[in-house]
Amino acid sequence: NSLFDSVELAPRDPILGLNEQYNADTRSNKVNLGIGVYCDDQGRIPLLKAVRQAEIAQTEAAAARGYLPIDGIPGYNKGAQTLLLGKNSALVAEGRVLTAQTLGGTGALKVGADFLRRLLPGSKVAISNPSWENHRAIFENAGFTVDTYAYHNAATHGLDFEGMLAALDKLPTQTVVVLHACCHNPTGVDPTLDQWRKIANVVKEKQLVPFLDIAYQGFGEGLEEDASVVRLFAELGLTMLVSSSFSKSFSLYGERVGALTLISASREESTRVLSQLKRLIRTNYSNPPTHGGTVVSMVLNTPELYALWTQELTSMRERIRAMRIQLVEKLKTHGVKQNFDFVLAQRGMFSYSGLTSAQVDRLREEHAIYAINSGRICVAALNSRNIDYVAEAIAKVL
Ligand code: PLP
Repeated sequence: NSLFDSVELAPRDPILGLNEQYNADTRSNKVNLGIGVYCDDQGRIPLLKAVRQAEIAQTEAAAARGYLPIDGIPGYNKGAQTLLLGKNSALVAEGRVLTAQTLGGTGALKVGADFLRRLLPGSKVAISNPSWENHRAIFENAGFTVDTYAYHNAATHGLDFEGMLAALDKLPTQTVVVLHACCHNPTGVDPTLDQWRKIANVVKEKQLVPFLDIAYQGFGEGLEEDASVVRLFAELGLTMLVSSSFSKSFSLYGERVGALTLISASREESTRVLSQLKRLIRTNYSNPPTHGGTVVSMVLNTPELYALWTQELTSMRERIRAMRIQLVEKLKTHGVKQNFDFVLAQRGMFSYSGLTSAQVDRLREEHAIYAINSGRICVAALNSRNIDYVAEAIAKVL
């Protein structure tokens, strides 16, 4: 008898399963809108020039690869804080902000979830309906019960703001609320800043625990604008957690670059909290890897590279925006009467297109266009070569 006799086959990751199917598809006109990565107009994941330059400098420096500190590279963490809170943050000056370099945004969520589970053993977690599917899995895996709060309104293709506020208002004190700080995945629907103010007030009044997830900073309106929600919560004096991902903004998916940032009540509290985070990390993966962190830190802390990076990020954001506009126009050109203007109001890489599961199946079977059955499409996978074909195919299956 094998030790592993009783081990059951785990369900396949739905998105990765779709990718495998796409890779095996031999039709030459195939298009993958299922993935969650930014592709350039040639349909490739770009290697940013700022990243390349930092890598060359790093290679030339021929530095030894000792262990990093448990919480990562100090300049990286400082850079992550500046992206979130701005250059002259009073909170940072007061020592109330602490950051650990993590293995992507996923790693930040996981370390944060493990920390909160010990701190708040009686609390539940609430995520948006719908949310990035790994949110539920990460928090459940950390031991939490995960509920949802209303978010997307399928009828209006927008935010169910009243429903969201009402749901948050009903949550027990100290419920951990996971909020997408910008560019909601999977819907692309974000609250307005005014709506965020009301959300933040409920979070404060009800003494909920905000865990802001920011995986697409720079893909909405701009680096500074996209941090507004984090700054709004911080200004209300809320103690909170923030998970940052640089996977998309630096196009460094495989390097696992992310950060967990906590805002505490005092410098002394920060010291205690950081000591516990370090203990969690030490007994998990010990310390983060050097390469991606060094590259990101170099870009964030070298003015010329930073300027180049923000230009490249702007081009990525503007290309996605252009694809949204073209998709809506081309759908009209192909005779679609249904109003798709909501796609223009959505932010970030994704769009909840409103396509039904049956329509998504037809796109795949009849046109070799792959999307998620929820109707989520990755707008960042559209380009000048495939957009006509995609618009025409959507028009045919509607
Ligand atoms: N949070 C959200 C909302 C995401 O969409 C993603 C990635 O898809 C992540 C976190 C995790 O990012 P990373 O790849 O850096 O772990």
